Amino acid sequence: MGEAGIVTDVVIVGGGPAGILLAHHFRQHGIRHKVLERGKVGQSWRDMRPGMVLLSPGVPGTDWTSLTLQHPIWSYPGVRRPFPTREDFLCYVEAFARDHGVEVVERTDVAGARRTSLVKSGTSAAARPVYAGRFMAGVSPRTNMLGGAL
Ligand SMILES: Cc1cc2nc3c(=O)[nH]c(=O)nc-3n(C[C@H](O)[C@H](O)[C@H](O)COP(=O)(O)OP(=O)(O)OC[C@H]3O[C@@H](n4cnc5c(N)ncnc54)[C@H](O)[C@@H]3O)c2cc1C
Repeated sequence: MGEAGIVTDVVIVGGGPAGILLAHHFRQHGIRHKVLERGKVGQSWRDMRPGMVLLSPGVPGTDWTSLTLQHPIWSYPGVRRPFPTREDFLCYVEAFARDHGVEVVERTDVAGARRTSLVKSGTSAAARPVYAGRFMAGVSPRTNMLGGAL
């Protein structure tokens, strides 16, 4: 903990779909990171009207909704097809985070962030960039995440 509260290599602001998938990739590559979410996981979706149906289909071949093709939304039991509901999507995002060990620090509203220089073994290394992204609807999940997040 530093004066800003949290010190890490990468700060991901927001535990929405983009932040969770990015954290999943960082975890896979052993990159130290923190996901900070002012509400709960998938908060933007919690704020939407109950029963809302997604515009994006979540079915094999036309799937725009899944975070990864390896763990698609349509493989989860009870998901409404072809268009999942807000509730389906929330369950999926929560399950994705849980099943992939993505940790989200909830109820943490990020007021600001800054890069710092870390001294390791006598050398100075800049911290990695801060990310604040937004998932873009209407393109494939893979393109979506790479395009929006990196
Ligand atoms: C009515 C509606 C319908 C939609 N339908 C679809 C659809 O059918 N298909 C589709 O693909 N997309 C749809 N979208 C778009 C959808 O919102 C995005 O695809 C997706 O939620 C964006 O993911 P994200 O992780 O980039 O952003 P978000 O889901 O918005 O996540 C951002 C997160 O950051 C958190 N946050 C923001 N500021 C801070 C801060 N300062 N500190 C800490 N946390 C913070 C928020 O609480 C939120 O949880 C819809 C959007 C709306 C509003």
